[in-house]
Amino acid sequence: MPRQSSGSIAAIVSQFVDQLTSALESEALDRAREAVLSAVGIGARRGPGRPAGSRGPGRPPGRPRKKPPIQYCPVPGCKNRAAPVFGMVCSEHKDLPKSKINKFRADRRAEKAKAKAKGKA
Ligand SMILES: [Zn+2]
Repeated sequence: MPRQSSGSIAAIVSQFVDQLTSALESEALDRAREAVLSAVGIGARRGPGRPAGSRGPGRPPGRPRKKPPIQYCPVPGCKNRAAPVFGMVCSEHKDLPKSKINKFRADRRAEKAKAKAKGKA
């Protein structure tokens, strides 16, 4: 076994340090790549936060909220849209008494029912 000089030991050490450095560097690189991939959502490991596609509690993803149908002012001849702030009449008829509005609404409902019955028969 040949005797090694302190110079060659230093060379071995420096070579070892080089290898260690490159090993650490590649490991750090791997870790960074993994972090980036999981942040983008490609990595198999799930990161913190909501999974893509979920939009809220209780609602299945991909299905939008069902909007209520548009209501119109119940006053005969009025084609304006009703607004909840006016008590479900239009801005023009918001000053009408509730009793009148209710009568208009009942009339309209009766009319609708009649039309439906007629259509069926
Ligand atoms: Zn109206």
